[in-house]
Amino acid sequence: MSELRDNYIGWIRDAHAMEEQAITMLTSQAKRLDNYPELRTRIEHHIEETRGQSEALERVLDRLDGDPSMLKDVAGKFTATMQGMSGIFASDEVVKGTLAGYTFEHMEIESYRVLIAAAEAVGDTQSKAVFETILQQEEAMANWLAANTDRTVKTYLARAEADLQASH
Ligand code: MG
Ligand code: FE
Repeated sequence: MSELRDNYIGWIRDAHAMEEQAITMLTSQAKRLDNYPELRTRIEHHIEETRGQSEALERVLDRLDGDPSMLKDVAGKFTATMQGMSGIFASDEVVKGTLAGYTFEHMEIESYRVLIAAAEAVGDTQSKAVFETILQQEEAMANWLAANTDRTVKTYLARAEADLQASH
């Protein structure tokens, strides 16, 4: 039982670190996206959702184990991966950004599926409902990015071709 609980709480802490990294990544993307207003608006909306997700996970951890100081231990876990992918200095930054964003959302989606399965295994129905709500937000963000890939890429290519500022 305690092994089960340790795994479960560890995975919730990982998800919290992932959301904190998401806030950093999305904020740096959104503030640079001058030429992609719909993408910027959607990302800003998801930043607000992500703050809510992080706080919801803190409440879950508080209820389960009451030691929020442990959160700092894994805070940098996803940083290296995402910095490598964000492409912030690339001339096609917006395209690298949509690749990184779509990939990140899918890491989040699978992370919440893991947590839903684990919540079922420990019988934590209250937290399971939290994870299901967050999962829906991640799926909606991933679906929006996929539905807008065509517009993002073609806007980028047209602006680059016309010698307009295209990268972000
Ligand atoms: Mg998230
Ligand atoms: Fe997300």
